[in-house]
Amino acid sequence: MPLATPRRLLLFFSTLATLSVGGFLAIESWLVYKRDLASVESNLEAQATLLTEHAELAFTTARQVLADIEWEQNRQAMQQYLSSRPLYQRILGTPLFGGLFVANAEGDVIFTAKKFPADFDVLAQGALYQAHRQGAYDVVGWPLTLGESDRQMIPVSHRLVDRNGEFAGFAVVLLQAEYFRDFYDRVINDSELRIGMFHRDGTVLILHPSPLAERPTSQHELSALFTAKAADTLLVSSPVDGQDRIAAFRNMDMYPVTMAASYSYAAFIEDLLPAFRRNAILFLIFTGGVILAWVLIDRALRVAVKAREATTGAQRRQQETLQLCHAIAHNLPNGRVFVIERGYRYAFVEGRLWQDHPDYNPQAMVGKTIREVFPADHAARLESLVDTALAGREGEQEIIFQQRVFKAFATPLRNESGQVLRCLLLTQEITRLKEDQKALEMLNQELDRLARTDSLLGISNRRELDRHLESEWSRGSREGHPLALLLIDVDCFKHYNDVYGHPAGDNSLQQVASVLSEAIRRPGDLAARYGGEEMAVLLPHTEMDGALNIAQRIHELLAERNIPFAASPVSDRVTVSIGAASMLPVTGQASQQLIDRADQALYRAKANGRSRTEAYREKEAN
Ligand code: GH3
Ligand code: MG
Ligand code: MG
Repeated sequence: MPLATPRRLLLFFSTLATLSVGGFLAIESWLVYKRDLASVESNLEAQATLLTEHAELAFTTARQVLADIEWEQNRQAMQQYLSSRPLYQRILGTPLFGGLFVANAEGDVIFTAKKFPADFDVLAQGALYQAHRQGAYDVVGWPLTLGESDRQMIPVSHRLVDRNGEFAGFAVVLLQAEYFRDFYDRVINDSELRIGMFHRDGTVLILHPSPLAERPTSQHELSALFTAKAADTLLVSSPVDGQDRIAAFRNMDMYPVTMAASYSYAAFIEDLLPAFRRNAILFLIFTGGVILAWVLIDRALRVAVKAREATTGAQRRQQETLQLCHAIAHNLPNGRVFVIERGYRYAFVEGRLWQDHPDYNPQAMVGKTIREVFPADHAARLESLVDTALAGREGEQEIIFQQRVFKAFATPLRNESGQVLRCLLLTQEITRLKEDQKALEMLNQELDRLARTDSLLGISNRRELDRHLESEWSRGSREGHPLALLLIDVDCFKHYNDVYGHPAGDNSLQQVASVLSEAIRRPGDLAARYGGEEMAVLLPHTEMDGALNIAQRIHELLAERNIPFAASPVSDRVTVSIGAASMLPVTGQASQQLIDRADQALYRAKANGRSRTEAYREKEAN
């Protein structure tokens, strides 16, 4: 399976999980928001209802007092009349009551019951008078401040008629704003909560907490809001101060007054923030966890896929190795191919060698160790070769087993990471090859010997003599040893040939050569044919005395052979004349010097009667 599929699945599921949890937390946040909003709204609605009822009670009280007033012509009559009214008497002592005024049809105040010193004329001339003159019975007036007292009042007025039912003036009760504020202060303990009492036309009567008669930013908007519905709860950018608020309002049934309670939206959101923040943190933690898990699993997947690819690669390479082993095994004339694992266990065995041998047959060997197959000594040799390969080096060894010779090559087999866990062992029987090699070697030695030997006489030839002379000359000069040479010439040999024939001559020469070989004693001594019937004996490390001894031995041994030569003018048997020379070789001088000296001595031996030895003498040179 390609890497892409599991990774894509992983990506899909981790994205799905993240989205699910994210979605869940978002919905949860949304639900919390909705729930809290609904809770705030219902709370505000309840507040608005309660406040409306409370205010309505105050307004109704004022109206009852007013409705109880009957028109009297003058201040005294009015005073008298009012003092008999129990309702009026009762309201006078309450904190709600701020004052009572009665004006006549002309707008002049004819009666005043002031709780606080103040001038009420402005009011009498104002909008209230106009409203009542035009026929309005009950009016809730606009807020005012009573002169020096600085107290805020809400006027509630009533139209007065005379006994004929004609407009006679109006009476006003001032309600103290302070009374409402005190009440709101007592019942409300949330600083974000704001209470408003509004005239239906949008005028602010009371704002708590806030000074009276604050001008709304949009009076028109407020009025439109309050006239559209009797009560409502809404999220609104407040027409009073322009802030976003959750607000509930309710209109009074009897009066053009609306009570509103509102809560700052910003504060509401502020309250929700911890919950939102908690959800955001949860989401971040979860997403972080998913990403971490994703990275870890993805890495594990990559490693797994890589390992699988490596395994397939390794298997393929192993297959190739096996094919190669098969090919080698089939083409090895009399050999075998082994793959040997650590522990010297055969993993692969094939080849023509010992194909039918019951103990060494390939199938029987696979799975066994070297020691389970071969005797201990042979196994030890093989194991040491395998050790070489397992140590990472090539090895080769000639092994003799059951009188047969084998050449074994060991090669390390490396795995992907370069480790050597197995080795390739190639063996080839080379018994025949070894025999052939031996024969060839002997042949070469023989040829070499022949090349150095005189074919007739069986001693070294001239070329060999020259070579030895050269090497002994330089060795003698290096080491400061004397070198001696005997030149041996058969006496009157021409004549011998003439008398006995050439083949007999050859035979005699062979005898002389044999005598020379017998006469020399040291391994470094060399007997050689110098040319014709002339021979030489080279004696390294030899003074003249020693050389003369050897010469003497030659004469004696030849005499012992007693080769008849009746026609010889010297003796009745074959004799030789010998010239002897010995000198200290000198580097840079020619070895020919030694030959020349021996030759001169030989010449003297001939001249002095033959069958003798003459030693070279210095004066001969001159
Ligand atoms: P001298 O005593 O002065 O040495 O007399 P000589 O007759 O031996 O004279 P010289 O050494 O000059 O003669 C060498 C003769 O040896 C000549 C040749 O016929 C004979 N000869 C050389 N080589 C061979 C050989 O290989 N076989 C035979 N049978 N004779 C050889
Ligand atoms: Mg001669
Ligand atoms: Mg001769």
